[in-house]
Amino acid sequence: MNAFADRIALITGGARGQGRAHAVALAELGADIVICDRCADSPVVAYPLATPADMAETVRLVEERGRRCIALQADTGDRAAMDAVVTRGVAEFGRIDIAIANAGVSAAASLPRISSELWDEVVSTNLTGVFNTIAAVVPAMTAAGYGRIITVSSMMGRSAAPGMAAYSATKWGVIGLTKAAALELAPHGITANVVAPGNISTPMVHNEALYARMRPDLDNPGRDDVEPIFATLHAQPVAFLEPEEVTRAVLFLADEKSAHITGTVMPVDAGAAARVTA
Ligand code: NAD
Repeated sequence: MNAFADRIALITGGARGQGRAHAVALAELGADIVICDRCADSPVVAYPLATPADMAETVRLVEERGRRCIALQADTGDRAAMDAVVTRGVAEFGRIDIAIANAGVSAAASLPRISSELWDEVVSTNLTGVFNTIAAVVPAMTAAGYGRIITVSSMMGRSAAPGMAAYSATKWGVIGLTKAAALELAPHGITANVVAPGNISTPMVHNEALYARMRPDLDNPGRDDVEPIFATLHAQPVAFLEPEEVTRAVLFLADEKSAHITGTVMPVDAGAAARVTA
């Protein structure tokens, strides 16, 4: 039952959504948790990001399961901030065994309308942020001779869609970065793998801005109005998956017994990956 007993897991973007689901599941299975989240909106991201209250709720859910939780406000795009998160986690808990580079932002905008500010935001959070997370944890994991790194790409990391150029570019980048990390870290007992979610029911997809973009023909479109469009992105006839479905893949890759699975991409996308070769 306690597959992760006394393991220490760092989860970026852990205040809500998939990050919270991973934190709660790992705590349920015995891990202590370090989460960080920026807990502030971005002037160029069209939907609200997490709040300090969201982060407090993740802490409550972890502690309710009898585990410890350190929660820090930090932007993954800031390397010094990520170094400080890891330093604090190692100082209090002794190590970081598992790192889940989950923080991300979505930006739906057609190519000519992607401002430099929007491009920089998406690259900073989705790609540089993953690099900063890996760079921050690798020294401690190398010293311990053990680590499980899981990065979060997307089905848009192996395909593309109109309006998703910046997002897709960063999510393809996450896969290249993770494969390089897997090779470099192979001698040190550290694995690095990617999960690639499809449409997951979190505030990243359930927000007015994205609904309006997907149904410009309607005033105030709701979930029912966008479901058929989201469903076309999957192969199975389902529009949205639950965060806990991604957690199952994360737990598998984070397990000590997954020692010789590294450099892989695991889709959780209702069959969308069957359409791509890479
Ligand atoms: P979400 O918006 O609910 O969660 C993302 C979290 O990251 C939020 O708490 C946000 O505050 C935080 N965050 C954003 N920028 C940050 C930064 N620079 N530093 C620290 N924290 C930051 O969405 P989610 O669905 O839980 O997203 C989790 C991951 O899954 C993201 O990488 C996302 O790109 C990816 N993903 C999501 C979907 C989907 O359909 N929801 C699909 C494929 C991939």
